[in-house]
Amino acid sequence: MSAAARSGVLASVGAFSAPKRVLMGPGPSDVHPRVLAAMAQNTIGHLDPEFVRLMDEIKLLLRATFRTENDLTFAISAPGSIGMETSVINLVEPGDTIIICVNGVFGGRMVSMAERAGAKVVKVATPWGRAVDLEGVEAALKANPGTRVVAFVQAETSTGALSDAKALSALAHQYGALSLCDAVTSLAGVPLEVDAWGIDAVYSATQKCLSAPPGLSPVSYSSRAVERVKARKTPVVSWFQDLALVMSYWGSGGNSTARRTYHHTAPVNALFGLHESLLILHEEGLEASWARHARVHKQLADGLEALGFRYVVPEGERLPQLNSVWIPEGIDDAAGRGRLLNEFGVEIGGGLGDFAGKVWRIGLMGQSCSEQHVERVLNALAAISGRSRVATATLETV
Ligand SMILES: *Cc1c(COP(=O)(O)O)cnc(C)c1O
Repeated sequence: MSAAARSGVLASVGAFSAPKRVLMGPGPSDVHPRVLAAMAQNTIGHLDPEFVRLMDEIKLLLRATFRTENDLTFAISAPGSIGMETSVINLVEPGDTIIICVNGVFGGRMVSMAERAGAKVVKVATPWGRAVDLEGVEAALKANPGTRVVAFVQAETSTGALSDAKALSALAHQYGALSLCDAVTSLAGVPLEVDAWGIDAVYSATQKCLSAPPGLSPVSYSSRAVERVKARKTPVVSWFQDLALVMSYWGSGGNSTARRTYHHTAPVNALFGLHESLLILHEEGLEASWARHARVHKQLADGLEALGFRYVVPEGERLPQLNSVWIPEGIDDAAGRGRLLNEFGVEIGGGLGDFAGKVWRIGLMGQSCSEQHVERVLNALAAISGRSRVATATLETV
């Protein structure tokens, strides 16, 4: 591009105006206006006493959300993938054995991270669309004595399958390993009991069922996990993600009198947003949020089946907040999703990996999990697939 052409293009750039969308894909989900308003407040210093107080409240709210008393509970200043990587690279050292359950894209991502960290990775593969196979995990634990960590994805967003985090964590402990749970999509959408289930390391993200904008990764580590990090013989190769260093910034204790040392500049306004989204969650109640996801999912599943859509995941292993259906014969993936977005303002997700072009993923996460959202997406799907909707009781009452 010539200099003149470039300045012409630059001159045509104006303020960005986000279109109105209804977010019903695999994340981000719709953000509550209260969260947006909280983020639009004036920025304050990240060591301001008021900001330190906000960080302490976020830790309290996150502990209540994860259902844990873990001291080391905070939000990493980065998206969910960094929560995943931080957990993996702190818990394993080169040569350590880690068992990773792979039943979709995100388990596969964990494998790449653990391999880069020099771990000996034992994969337990389960077909896509199914919950992790517990017998396979037990066989791998028996075959690999001394395994340090068993890692799994509770809610596999690429397929819509829910795995048994409680049983997987118990298996890990039975064989002397730590448990590492991906709760990116599960947190606030389905039951997760970090302490009661003995989960040692857990990470999530803000843009799924917490319904805040993307960019933060809430995490929590048990005292067993912290001991493991402290006992490392080799330093974590990433400076930014070394938990031993981040701990002194977020403070490991529960009160603001603990001294904070500068580590990095926290994304101040993003944390205003997370604080507000957690408040909204706890005003509703965590269990009420789980129940709402289950109830609204049932409404969507009934409507999808009435329209002739078939679920990828067998009943009993389905996530309420992520519904994968086979794309009906005769409908083009990209064109169909384009019509949903352009004509109805509704975003849904396409398939990833093996499911690309074959599967649509309809999210019901956080603020996007309501009766009105279901009606909107069902009407839009009926229109683009040329099917008519049978009026249901729920339709009439909306
Ligand atoms: C979205 C997602 C991630 C990655 O989170 P990012 O914020 O996109 O980095 C990891 N695991 C699961 C299960 C997810 O759904």
